[in-house]
Amino acid sequence: QGLGRAGPSVTADPLLGGLLSPGFDDRSCLSRYRASLYRQPSLHNLSSHLVSRLRRYESLHQLCGPGTPAYSHAVARLREAMDGHASAPAPASSNSTSSSDPECSYIIWTPVEGLGNRILSTASAFLYALLTDRVLLVHHPADDLNDMFCEPFPGSNTTWVLPEEGFPIQGIKGLNVRTRESLGNALGRGEGEGSAPWLYVHLQTDYKPDDRRFFCDDGQDTVRGVRWLVLRSDNYFVPGLFFLRRYEEELVRLFPRRDTVFHHLGRYLFHPSNTVWGMATRYYSSYLAPAEERVGVQVREFKYARISADERYKQIISCASRESLLPAVDNATLPSSSDHHHHQEQEQETKRKAVLVVSLNGDYYDKLSSLYYEHGGAAGVTVSVFQPTHLGMQQSEKRQHNQKALAEIVLLSFSDVVVTSAQSTFGYVSQGLAGLRPWVLMLPVDGKVPDPPCRLASTIEPCFMRPPHYDCRTRGDSDNGKVVPYIRQCEDVSYGVQLV
Ligand code: GDP
Repeated sequence: QGLGRAGPSVTADPLLGGLLSPGFDDRSCLSRYRASLYRQPSLHNLSSHLVSRLRRYESLHQLCGPGTPAYSHAVARLREAMDGHASAPAPASSNSTSSSDPECSYIIWTPVEGLGNRILSTASAFLYALLTDRVLLVHHPADDLNDMFCEPFPGSNTTWVLPEEGFPIQGIKGLNVRTRESLGNALGRGEGEGSAPWLYVHLQTDYKPDDRRFFCDDGQDTVRGVRWLVLRSDNYFVPGLFFLRRYEEELVRLFPRRDTVFHHLGRYLFHPSNTVWGMATRYYSSYLAPAEERVGVQVREFKYARISADERYKQIISCASRESLLPAVDNATLPSSSDHHHHQEQEQETKRKAVLVVSLNGDYYDKLSSLYYEHGGAAGVTVSVFQPTHLGMQQSEKRQHNQKALAEIVLLSFSDVVVTSAQSTFGYVSQGLAGLRPWVLMLPVDGKVPDPPCRLASTIEPCFMRPPHYDCRTRGDSDNGKVVPYIRQCEDVSYGVQLV
C-alpha cells in the first residue's frame, strides 16, 4: 500500500493486543482493523482486566441493546413508570416483566459542543458504563453525527444509537441545569435513592454544586438504582470518577497506568466511518506516506486568547526550532552557493519530513510552506507542508464539516510527533489516539508569544477542564488538584485537573 512506516504489514497488530473484539464483519468498517497500519503501535500496556471487561461489556450490550427483547422490556417499563409518576397514586404493579428478564440499565449520552468535546465526554460516559454495568447509548438528535463513527460494539442484532421513535423520554435536546429530573435538582429536593424512573445528569461547564454531587457518594447512591440516565457533558470527566472510593479498586485494575485511560478507550471506541476513513487515508497516501517522519501541528484559536496570525506563526517557529521539531532553514541553499550544494545533496541521504498543519485558518500553512519553498532545510532534510482544509469557522451542526474535522483528528493521530494547542479538546483527542505526549503551544500572553512557546506535556491524558472542585463532606469548595497524588492541575488549564 505504499505506507510510510517500516514493515507495517509484518508487525501490525490489527486487534491492538486484544483491545478490539474479533467479532466484526471487516468490510462494515474499514478503519477498525486497519488503523494499526497507519498509527504507531501503542507503547502503553493494556491490562488483561480491561480486555476482559470490554468483552463482558460487549456481551451485556448484545443482551440489552436496542433491538433485543430485553431492551423492549426496559423501554416498556420506563414508559409505565413515567405514566405512573404522572398520575399521583402508586402505579399498579405490572406483570409485563418476568423474573428471567435481565435487569438492564442504561446511560444515554447526548451531544453538545464540538467534536473533541463530544468524543471526550463519550469516552467518559463509556468508562462510567463499564464501572456501573450500564449500557451506553448515544443520542443523535440531528444528522450531524451520522456517518461519522462505526458501531463500536459487535452484534448485528443491536446498535449503540438510541432509537428515538417511541422513546418515552421526550425533549432530550432541551434538558438543562434547571430540568426537574436532573440529579442536582433531585438531590436539592432531598429525594432518596433509586426512586425515579430516569434522571438527567448534567455535567456541563455551567453545572451547579448539587450537579457536582455526581462525583460524591450521595450522588452515586441516588443514581445507582435508576435504570435510565441521560447525560450531557462537554467535558472529559474521567478524572472525577477517580475521586469516588467505590470505583477506585476497579479503576486501578482496569488502568494500572492511569495516564492511558483515554488512549485505550479512544482506540477502542472511535473508528471513523468508511467515508471519513477514505478521506484520511487518501490524504495520507497522497501526501504523508512518502516522508520518513510526520510532524502534526494543530493550531487552534480561542476568542478569549487572541493573537495575530503573525505572532502565532512566530510561536510555532520558535517552538519548532527550540525543540528541534523542524529543521532550521539552510542558508547555503541561497542561489549564490547553489552549485556547490547541489553536488553535496547527491552524496548525502536526504530525509523527508512531512508537516501536517491542521487549523481552521490557512495562514500558518501559507507561511510555513513558503519558508521551506524559499529555503531548504538544513542537514539535508526536505520539508513538505500540507493542510487538508481551512474551513474558517466552527460549524459543528454540519455533517460534512464534522467528517472533515474527524478526518483531520485521525490524520494527526498518524503523526510521529504532535504539536497541539493549549486547551483544545480537538488536540487532546489527536494526542490520545496517537498515544503521544504532545508539544503544547501554550496560550498567548497579552496577544504575544508566551515563554516558553511550547511545552512537552507530562501526560497523554486530556484535561478535565471543569472539575467539580467540590468537597463532598463539607459541601463547600475544594481544590481537586490536591486530593490524590495522581490527579494534578492541568499544565494548560489552571482550573482543570488531569491524570498523570
Ligand atoms: P476545541 O474547541 O478545540 O476544544 O475542539 P472541538 O472539536 O470540541 O470544537 C472545535 C470544532 O471546530 C471542531 O470540532 C471542528 O468542527 C472545528 N475545528 C476546530 N479546529 C479545526 C481544524 O483544525 N480542522 C477542522 N477541520 N475543524 C476544526
